[in-house]
Amino acid sequence: MNNTKIWLSSPHMGGNERNYVQEAFDTNWVAPLGPNVNGLEEDLESYLRNQSFVGALSSGTAAIHLGLILLGVKAGDEVICQSMTFSASANPILYLGATPVFIDSEPETWNICPIALEEAIIDRIANGKKPKVIIAVHLYGVPYKIEAIKAISNKYAIPVLEDSAEALGSSYKGQQCGTFGDIGVLSFNGNKIITTSGGGAIVTPTKALKDRAVFYATQSRDIAPHYQHSEIGYNYRMSNICAGIGRGQMEVLDDHVALRRNMNAFYVALFKDIQNVTVFTTPNDDYYANYWLSAIIVEPNLFDDINRETLRLAFEAANIECRPLWKPMHLQPVFEIYPYYGTRVAETLFEKGLCLPSGSNLTDEDRNRIESVVTFFFKTT
Ligand SMILES: *Cc1c(COP(=O)(O)O)cnc(C)c1O
Repeated sequence: MNNTKIWLSSPHMGGNERNYVQEAFDTNWVAPLGPNVNGLEEDLESYLRNQSFVGALSSGTAAIHLGLILLGVKAGDEVICQSMTFSASANPILYLGATPVFIDSEPETWNICPIALEEAIIDRIANGKKPKVIIAVHLYGVPYKIEAIKAISNKYAIPVLEDSAEALGSSYKGQQCGTFGDIGVLSFNGNKIITTSGGGAIVTPTKALKDRAVFYATQSRDIAPHYQHSEIGYNYRMSNICAGIGRGQMEVLDDHVALRRNMNAFYVALFKDIQNVTVFTTPNDDYYANYWLSAIIVEPNLFDDINRETLRLAFEAANIECRPLWKPMHLQPVFEIYPYYGTRVAETLFEKGLCLPSGSNLTDEDRNRIESVVTFFFKTT
């Protein structure tokens, strides 16, 4: 039997990427600017229904860093951040010398808990410091509680940085993820729903804010014939070569969303009769998830030696990559000294949760191999 590795989420080219890259070579636009960069920005703006402006950057992390700068974060400030996320959501807080304040998840969307969020804001204000920004994440492409978070943001006048790195193609009540925050962030890293090999974008509500982001991303050059700088700059613009890959990927984005949603439906059917496992799905039809990654919760059964880790190892033995959910930031050695508000929702999810192969390029044969592992594991353990 074919035993090649089945990945969690691997790059999936549509076909036209090479043409855009070839054109960049043919016209010598081998630089961090050019027609593909502008083209990708326009493609994204139209995908986001022309509600926002998009600046293409070298990574999603760069977009978060610039987003925090645009929202006025300075050294010594406090920034609220969903604890259960990838470290890139939180690292830029530290780049700026600010302090992260981590918030638990709520059980329905696994994202930032509105109750713990408000509790934290009240407590930080009582301690003498009002948080500057709220970083909320659409984990695995499932939108966070948009209305509840927006209401708290409005009530306390604290802007939201929407980390939509995993959620391009997801929407809430018909509005695209990436357009809900005061600033939005997208990622095109190699494992994301579309990739530029590495890259990201900042999404802003105004053209002025986008221009400001691009200014910082290109070393904060003042207008002058020589190199003149009044502010600290960054080298964060996207390469025209990478943007060419992105333009090809935009042509297949909706197909990729449909295929990842099919993977999620495959898992729902596969685990339907298995008591110990629940597949992570949206709470109701207001939420439309791209299901960038499909994830499950494994309720441990001591008697049968069923738990998240034994299942993961069974997949690993069959050369199938699975991974525990994001380990919450407040449990990470590098972040554990910072404040945390919540109970143990994120911790419990981390203990019991597993991400399964979710790529848009998985085949029937791959699905058969996954199914065999599951069938064997739950019948014989
Ligand atoms: C991937 C990811 C990022 C970072 O994006 P890069 O393009 O890899 O820098 C940020 N936040 C979340 C939640 C992510 O999954």
